[in-house]
Parts: sequence; structure tokens; C-alpha cells
Amino acid sequence: MCYEMCSNAEEFINNEEIIRSINFATENKSNEKLISNVIEKAKNLKGLNHKEALLLLVCNIKEKNAEIFSLAKKIKETIYGNRVVLFAPLYISNYCTNGCVYCPYCINNKTTVRKKLTQKEIENEVRALINMGHKRIALEAGEDYENCSLNYIFQAIDTIYNTTGTNANNKIRRINVNIAATTIENYKKLKEKNIGTYILFQETYNKELYEKFHPTGPKSNYSYHTTAMDRALKAGIDDVGCGVLFGLCDYKYDFTALLMHKEHLEAIFKIGPHTISIPRIKAANEIDLTKFENAVDDKTFLKIIACFRIAVPYTGIIISTRENEIIRKEGLNIGVSQISGGSLTSIGGYSKNRDEYIKSSAQFETSDKRTLEEIIYWLLKLKYIPSFCTACYRQQRVGTKFMDFSRNGEIKNFCTPNAILSLKEYLQDFATKPTKELGQKLIEEEIKNIKNELVKDETIKYIKNIENNKRDIFF
Ligand code: SAM
Repeated sequence: MCYEMCSNAEEFINNEEIIRSINFATENKSNEKLISNVIEKAKNLKGLNHKEALLLLVCNIKEKNAEIFSLAKKIKETIYGNRVVLFAPLYISNYCTNGCVYCPYCINNKTTVRKKLTQKEIENEVRALINMGHKRIALEAGEDYENCSLNYIFQAIDTIYNTTGTNANNKIRRINVNIAATTIENYKKLKEKNIGTYILFQETYNKELYEKFHPTGPKSNYSYHTTAMDRALKAGIDDVGCGVLFGLCDYKYDFTALLMHKEHLEAIFKIGPHTISIPRIKAANEIDLTKFENAVDDKTFLKIIACFRIAVPYTGIIISTRENEIIRKEGLNIGVSQISGGSLTSIGGYSKNRDEYIKSSAQFETSDKRTLEEIIYWLLKLKYIPSFCTACYRQQRVGTKFMDFSRNGEIKNFCTPNAILSLKEYLQDFATKPTKELGQKLIEEEIKNIKNELVKDETIKYIKNIENNKRDIFF
């Protein structure tokens, strides 16, 4: 393991250690005693190392697998309660100079309609998202320094934060940013723009496959891409979000490597990823799924979610609308804490005719096409609290402070009341009558469950304030 600022990814993504871990796990996948010991260890909510977590992932004992899923569910409930954070992606440009073979943005893809939103178009898109009820955005763009410069991205961030909805009280309160790996200097500038999490998917940690799937363009540099989070954290960005694109490589390899990446960041920066995203490869324009032999089936995918939840109890797990309603429901049950809703992956379309845009410039096909309102109603029916909360980030509960706060359990005193308050705002401003009724009922039940009397009284007072048109109230 490398305990200094790394410039060489292979110092912490050690291929031999990954292979050793896979061999060890495969040899012990039926070793009941060993697996039981790891499950026991995980019950203390301190997480697992990559080798232990992989053993659970490959375990093939039916009863033990049932225990693994039930432990993941318990950990999820203990740490996150029934809150589900919601966000929407905003794709602003699909110009790209990379040759990623799985992505329709690929420079060689001639039929993808290229588009970059003007600042006015961004404003319109953001207003449409705000008027749906969104408060959090994941800003997405391809990598093309001529057609989509960093200055353009910075302007877009300003535009997003400055846009208001029909009701001027409604704004986007947190922008997570998913743009290409860059320099420390640029990450510093990004930090100054007051972003939430900097997100970058590794796609695959397997160097050989990485180079096969990223043959050309700036992204083809494995080491530069893999050390991006080191640079982002070194630049002072508080929260980083990791992820792999499942389907490119053997899932066991990328599962293990992602945890090694987390161990590396923790060793050096005392902070692991704020979130882990687990996208699966999807069909897209000129992208033929049958060419990807490592595609992950639903059963394995759910096991991956459960084992991540057990391995990194305090890290948010994100799944997008790449997944359908059934997988999202199961995922939420065993570990997922954030989902996107009402999403479009096309450039523009939130403020225009959705179908027209989806056909022309979408990054991948979404499987969950429900509106945000439909998703909120569905979550309420399942007894989840849909949350648009952005309080931690705005109260500077970020980085190591956030981790300390969540590990000692203090965060729970705030998270549920904040989720309730953000839901109340949604119900007041955007919900249809049936959603409003269902949501109000859930809020009343949830307030009863708040143990701290002081926090309970304040929450009731804040709810009244929201009813009296005050907004953006949080602990
Ligand atoms: N600038 C970054 C880039 O170009 O990779 C981030 C933006 S990209 C729009 C976001 C993510 O979409 C990529 O990191 C990749 O994992 C994912 N993606 C690309 N092609 C995909 C596909 N066919 N199916 C599912 N996800 C895909």
C-alpha cells in the first residue's frame, strides 16, 4: 500500500493482490466457519477489508447468503433509517474526445447528435428540474476541452445555483459534479465553485481491460484517471464519489479493487469515498450489449449491493435509472441510499419534449422512466422518507467531519428531521393531492418516532413554518 500522494495507480490497485484475493475467496466460498467469522465481524458496523468483503460476495452457502442479505438490510436500517436521497442528472454537453468503446459519446460514434447547452438552455433545464421538486443535481459532461471547456462548466455551475423555480424560494442547493479527471489546479477551482461531491467512475480498475475499453483520448491514461481522487482530495475537495461500470470486467475484480481504492484514500486522506455508484452497462446508440461478456445479472448485482453495504456501512450507495423499478426496490431494501428520479440522460429535454430528446442524444437507455412525483408516491407507499436534504454539506458537515459525525451516530439526530423537513417542502410546493396526503401521514408518524424531545419540538415548529411559506429550514 502506498501512503504518500501517488502518481502511479498500480501502487494501490495491486493486480496481484486482487488476483490473490479472488483465489482465496474462490477456495473458501464454502468455508462456513470463515464466512461466519466475517459476518460476525461485520455486525459491529466497522466495515470489512477488501478480502473479507469479497469472501461474502462469492459465498455459495444458501443459509449464509440469507444472513448476508439480512445483515445488509439491518445495517442499512441502522445507519440510514428509511430515508432515501433523491437527485437528477443534468447532462450539459455530449461532445467528447475520448474513444471509450462502451459509451455513445465516443469520438468515433458518428450518429450521436452532438449538443452543448447554452447558459440560457441550462437555466431552462434547471428551472424545469426545480419545478419538478429537485434540489440536488449531478452535473454531467463529456470530455472535450474545445467544445466544453472548464470555464463553460464553471459558468454552468453559477447558472445552476442562480436559477430559481416558478416560486423564487425554490433553488438547486447542491451540485455534484461528474466531469473528467483533471489537475490539482483545476480541482481547486472546482472547489471554489462550491460543489458538493466530485464524482468520477473508474469504469474498470483492470489496467489491461481499461486500456482496451479506452483506446484513445485523455481518458486512455489509466494512471491519470485512477489517481484523480488523490488530486481532488489534495486540492481540498471535501467529498469524492467513486464507482465502476459493471459489465466491463469480472465483477469480483472491480468490487475488490474499488474497496482497495477506498482503503488507499482512507490511509492517505483519512477519508474514503462519500458515495459509491454502481452503474451497470446499458444499451445505447451504437453500443451493442452482446459484445460485453462480463455483464452482471440481477441476482449478482443485488449481492454486490449487499456486500458493499456491509463493507462500507457509512458510504452512500447510489443507483440510477439505469435500473428498473424492481431492482431499485430490492436495492433500497439491502443498501442503496440515493437514487435519481425523473431522469433524462439526453442533452436538454427536461424543459422540452422529452421523447424527442431521448432519441437523439441520450447517453444510455433508462429503465425507470417514472416521473419524480410517481417515484415519491412509490417511496411513500413503501414507507420510505423521500429526502431532498442538503443540510450536511451546507452546515459544513463534510469530509472527515462528516465521517466522524456519522460514525459516532450523532448524524442520526439531524438526518431524519432534515429529511422530513425537505419532504414537507416538496409536499407543499409540488405534490399532487394523493402524494400530499400519503406524505403528511408519514411525516406525522415519523415525528412521533423522534426520540430527542427538543429536536421533536423544533421539528414540529419548523413544519409549521414551512406551512407558513418559509423555506430551506434545516438542522
Ligand atoms: N466526463 C465523464 C466521462 O466522460 O466519463 C463523466 C460523464 S459520463 C456522462 C458518466 C458515466 O456514464 C461514465 O462514467 C460511464 O460510467 C457511464 N456510461 C457511459 N456509457 C454507458 C453505457 N453504455 N451504459 C451505462 N453507463 C454508461
